[in-house]
Parts: sequence; C-alpha cells; structure tokens
Amino acid sequence: MNSVLPSASVTAEQLTALEVVNAIARAIGEAPAVLHEPQFAGNEWEYLKECLDSTFVSSVGKFVDRFEKDLADYTGARYSVAVVNGTAALHIALKLAGVQAGDEVLTPALTFVATANAVSYCNAIPHFVDCEEATLGMSAVALREYLQSVAELHHGVCINRQSGRPIRAIVPMHTFGHPVDLDGLMAVAHDFKLVMVEDAAESLGSFYHGRHTGTFGRMGTLSFNGNKTITTGGGGAIITDDESLARHGKHLTTTAKLPHRWAYEHDQIGYNYRMPNLNAALGCAQLEQLPGMLSAKRQLFDAYRKACADLPGMHIVREPAYSQSNFWLQTLKLERENMALRDAILEATNAAGYMTRPIWRPMHKLQPYVGCPRMELTVTSSLEQRLINLPSSSGLGARGAR
Ligand SMILES: *Cc1c(COP(=O)(O)O)cnc(C)c1O
Repeated sequence: MNSVLPSASVTAEQLTALEVVNAIARAIGEAPAVLHEPQFAGNEWEYLKECLDSTFVSSVGKFVDRFEKDLADYTGARYSVAVVNGTAALHIALKLAGVQAGDEVLTPALTFVATANAVSYCNAIPHFVDCEEATLGMSAVALREYLQSVAELHHGVCINRQSGRPIRAIVPMHTFGHPVDLDGLMAVAHDFKLVMVEDAAESLGSFYHGRHTGTFGRMGTLSFNGNKTITTGGGGAIITDDESLARHGKHLTTTAKLPHRWAYEHDQIGYNYRMPNLNAALGCAQLEQLPGMLSAKRQLFDAYRKACADLPGMHIVREPAYSQSNFWLQTLKLERENMALRDAILEATNAAGYMTRPIWRPMHKLQPYVGCPRMELTVTSSLEQRLINLPSSSGLGARGAR
C-alpha cells in the first residue's frame, strides 16, 4: 500500500491531514471509497422479478404489506406505514401529531434540512435547539433550561412567551445513527406537554437501552434513501404503536380514498405518498441483510478507531452510553475548533480518493431558516467546525482492518 509522502513547504495542518489519509488507508485499504454506497447481495433481483412478472409494480402489491410487517417486527413498533421518502414520513407524522399552521416545532439545529422542511410543509415554524457533545443530538439539559426561561404552559399548551406561538412538538434526531438522550428529552416533552416525533431517518438498527430508536416518541420516521443503511431507492416509513395514528397515516398517504369497489370518494385532502411495490420489494430484500450490514459497520468502526488512535487532537466518534449505534456514518471529531485543519483534512482525503464530508451546515445558517427562533447554539457552532464523515459503506467493514 502506498503512503502519501509530504512534499516541501506544507503547513502543519496539511501534514496532519496526510496522517489522516494514511490512517484511512490503514483502516479500509486503497482508494477510491465513496461516503456511502448501497449493497445488493441478497434477494433483490428475485423479488424485483416477482414484481415485474406479477405486473404489481406500483401502489398495490404484497411487498408493501410485507415490508410494513417486517419493519414493525424488526423495530418492535406495532405498526408501520411505508411511504415515498423519509421527508414525506416526517411531514405526515407531524400532521398526525397535531402540528398546525403557526405552531412552533423544536428541531435540532444540527440536522439534515429535511427535518426543518417537514415542519415548514405544515406551515409551522422550526425552533432550533442546541446539541450535546456526546451524542451529537439535541441536548435535553440545555433545552430544559431554555424552555424554563422562554416558555410557559397555558391550559396545557406550551407557549413561547417571546413569539406568543404554541410550541407543539419536539423532533429529536439520531445523528449518524447515534441514539440521542431519549430519557432526558422524553422528560422535557412530558413536562412541557410536547408531542415527540423521532426523526430516526439515520438510525435503523440503532437501539437505546435495548429498544429500537423511533419507538420512544408518539411516532418515529425512517428513511430508505440510497445513502442510508438500507435502501429502497427512495423510501421512508412512519412507525408507531398507536393503531389509529397508523390507520390515519395510511389513509392520508394514499390520497385519503375511502375503500369502495369503484367509487372515487376522498374524505379529506390526502397525499400521494405511498411506497410503490417495486421499492418495497427492494426493502424486503435489504432488511433481510440488515444484521450482516450492522456487524460490518461495527467492524468498520473498530478498524477506524484503531487506525486513528494515534492521530493528534482527534478521534473517531463512539456510540453514546447505553446505546447500540448502527454506525451509519463514521465520524472523525477534532478535539478543538480548527477550520484550517478541518478543511485541510477534507482537501487531502478527497484528493486521495477517499470521499469525506463536513457535517451539514446548521439550519439557522440556511437562507430559508435564518429568521427562525432558536436558543444559544454554542455546541452546534463548535461541532460544525469539528466533524468529518469518513467512507462508511458496510462493504468496507467486510474488507476488514489491515
Ligand atoms: C435522510 C434523512 C431524512 C429523510 O430523507 P429522505 O431523503 O427524504 O428519505 C430526514 N432526516 C434526516 C436527519 C435524514 O438524514
């Protein structure tokens, strides 16, 4: 294997960045490696062929029912509703949670934009919460203190005293698959009468105290986008233990059509958000392989952890206490804020053929969301400068540490 050798007149940051490149090479072998690629090593072809042979490729078919059942079985949720993507799942879950126009919804500032967008689709306003260093997710401690100072309960509704608007719901997200502090956040939700919807888009296969993420809130939402742990091409799901929410969710995502042998009767404005049978067929095949992918991802984490152990001033992010992460994306965390070093690492790794990425730009810095209410985002602003995602495909784990 080739080591990258420094040439003359390089900065200290560039030198360190080359050490990172070499550490990645020790962990996963030679470049190239993309950030996350899907793996189709199971019954995908067989199930897809079954769809085509049966002509059931679209809204009806046995794979949709089976996928919903398999998801419920795997996560331990009583019900699941398969939909077109994770964003649609969040949109509908928030509607079902009672989020109305003019409400505020607490979301992490550090998340993929879909979390905030789903709130906007309800004509509600995202209200950004800081995260904690250990989990990279919403900080229950900071949030409680903040709500104590800006919010009050009025006839059982949490009101933002500064804006006068109801704060209706809270949407924690399990960043890169690492479970957030659910006990702390559930207590805050309870005390401030907030409905909790978990954005578990990144955390299929992640457990908190032995229970699957997404099953702690009133509802949880999953994503099966092409870059997620398992994929259906595009897809998502709502999971819940509440039968009437599940039934209402299915109804809303299938144009709110009343069952009838021929009549087109729709009792409200529904959405065409159902997952096609073709995508569900992929999902069934992918879910069968999830346990193997998860152990490969854990192996990959071990390989990175060992390879990066001696790098100065940085380390690989571990799973939080009391949790089992799916390690969707592996993350290198700089111990101190150092934009020059972060960018030098991004530059050197991408130049070497290892696809790496910074964490998302925090929501309050995105043009559509600059004016939204938010608390002090100290940890978010720090983490923005310190996190780098590394190549994380489950296939890399199977290659083993070298
Ligand atoms: C992937 C993702 C979603 C949903 O994504 P879709 O591409 O719509 O399936 C939502 N929230 C987070 C945090 C995500 O990472």
